[in-house]
Amino acid sequence: MDLSKKAVDFIDEDFLHGLINKEQPTKARIREIVAKSLNKIALSVEETADLVRTTDPELHEEIFAAARQLKENVYGNRIVLFAPLYIGNDCINDCTYCAFKRSNFQAVRRTLTPDEIKQQVTALEDHGHKRLILVFGEHSRYDADFISDTVRNVYSVRSGHGEIRRVNINAAPLDVEGYKKVKESGIGTYQIFMETYHHDTYTKMHPGNTRKGNYLYRLDGLNRAFEAGIDDVGLGVLFGLYDWRFEVLAMVRHALYLQETYNVGPHTLSFPRLRPAQGVEFDEQYFTTDDEFKRIIAILRLAVPYTGLILTARENPELRRELMSFGVSQIDAGSRIELGGYTEAGDAQVMEREQFSLADIRSLDEVMCQLMSDGYVPSFCTSCYRSGRTGEHFMEFSIPGFIKRYCTPNALLTLEEYLVDYSSPETRKVGEKLIEEELAKMEDGDMKQRTIKQLEEIKQRNVR
Ligand code: SAM
Ligand code: SF4
Repeated sequence: MDLSKKAVDFIDEDFLHGLINKEQPTKARIREIVAKSLNKIALSVEETADLVRTTDPELHEEIFAAARQLKENVYGNRIVLFAPLYIGNDCINDCTYCAFKRSNFQAVRRTLTPDEIKQQVTALEDHGHKRLILVFGEHSRYDADFISDTVRNVYSVRSGHGEIRRVNINAAPLDVEGYKKVKESGIGTYQIFMETYHHDTYTKMHPGNTRKGNYLYRLDGLNRAFEAGIDDVGLGVLFGLYDWRFEVLAMVRHALYLQETYNVGPHTLSFPRLRPAQGVEFDEQYFTTDDEFKRIIAILRLAVPYTGLILTARENPELRRELMSFGVSQIDAGSRIELGGYTEAGDAQVMEREQFSLADIRSLDEVMCQLMSDGYVPSFCTSCYRSGRTGEHFMEFSIPGFIKRYCTPNALLTLEEYLVDYSSPETRKVGEKLIEEELAKMEDGDMKQRTIKQLEEIKQRNVR
C-alpha cells in the first residue's frame, strides 16, 4: 500500500551536514545575525547554522541575552499553560525510545472510555485548566472518527466555572480525509513530531515494517494537513536520537518550508529530550547536555521569532525555570501522563502506565505561584483561536507586536479568572500583586480602563 499520497523530501542532509562542518563564524557575523533576529526577522538555515556552530562562550552568552530580549519584545512576560491528556496507549509501532512500543509486553494497555475521558476532563477543569493536548498511540482504533469524537467529548464537559477552550492533538499523521474530519471537530494545533530528521537514524529508531517507520509519510504528514485545510500545526524533534545541531537546522528548514509553501509557519516547535521509559535502553551517544539544550532553545527563539516554543514537564523544575527565560512561550503544568492519572494515580508515577517518566510533577497551583513570583504572567487565553486568528491571519496579527498589546490584557483577565475560581490563598495573593504591577505598566487609555473594569467584573462574579 502506498501510504504517501505526495511524499516531499525537503530535507537535504548533505547540505545540512555541510553547514555544520563549515569554519567558525566570526564574532561580527554572529552579531549581525543576532541583530537581524532582534529586528524580528526570521533567520535562514545558513544563519541558524552559524549560531549553532559558534563555540565562543562569549557569543553563547550574547545569544542567550538576545533570546531573552526577543521573547520579551514579542511575547512580553506571558506564559501559556496547558496539560496533556493521554487517551490511549495501544500502539502498532515499535519506536525504540517509547514505553508504548508494541514489544513492551509489560505496558498496561488501556484506552479511556468516553465516560472516563469526561472524568479526566472534569478533574482538569476543577484545577483550572483551559487548554489540553490529547495524546494517542498509533492504532487503527484511534482513527480520525475516534479522534474527532474524543475532541467533541472533551469540549462538551462543563464543571463549575470550568470549560476546555482549546484542544490540541498529538497523534500519528493522518491522510487528507482524516485531517478534514478532525478539523471539523474544532481542534487547535495538530502536532506531529518528526522525532529525528536524519533518515538513517529514523529508520534505526523505528524498526520493523511499521507505519511510523515510513520517514517520508511522516515528513509529509503536515503537508497533508495543510491540504485538508488545517493551518495550525506543530513541529517537534526528540532530542537525544541524533546530533542536536543537525536536528535544529532540519526543524528550522521544515518551518521555513511550511512558511514558503503555505504562507504559514508552524504555530509551535517542541523539543522534548529523551526520558527514562519502561523497557527502553538508550544509546547515550547523542544525549543532549543541559548546556546544549539551553543553546537549542535560544537559537530556535532567534531563528523563528514568531513561533511558539513549548517546554514540557520532561525537564525538572529548576532547569525549566532557567530555560523559560530563553524564549519559551508555553509550558504544561500539573501534568500526569499515565492513563487515567488525573483521578487515579495520586502523587506517585506509575512506570507500567506511563510513556516515559516526568521530571516535574508539581501541581498547576504550585507552578502558577512560582511563575508569578518570577514575574511571568501565566495565561489561559484562547481568544485568537476563538476569533479565527490562526494560520495566515495569526501571522498577520502577530507581526506588528499584536501579541504584546492585546495578549497581555487577555492574559490578565484569564489569570484573574484562575485566581478567583481555583487558586490557593497564597497563589492568589501573589497573583493579585502581579496583576496590579502589570496594570501599572500598561499605557493609560481605553484598553487599560476596559481591562480594569473587566477584572473587577470577574472578582464580583464570585462575591455575588
Ligand atoms: N504516537 C504518536 C506519535 O508517535 O506520533 C503520538 C505521540 S507520542 C504518544 C508523543 C511523543 O512523545 C513522541 O512523538 C515522542 O517525541 C515523545 N516520546 C516518546 N518516548 C519518549 C521518551 N522516552 N522520552 C521523552 N519523550 C518521548
Ligand atoms: Fe507508539 Fe507514538 Fe510511542 Fe511510537 S512514540 S511507540 S508511535 S506511542
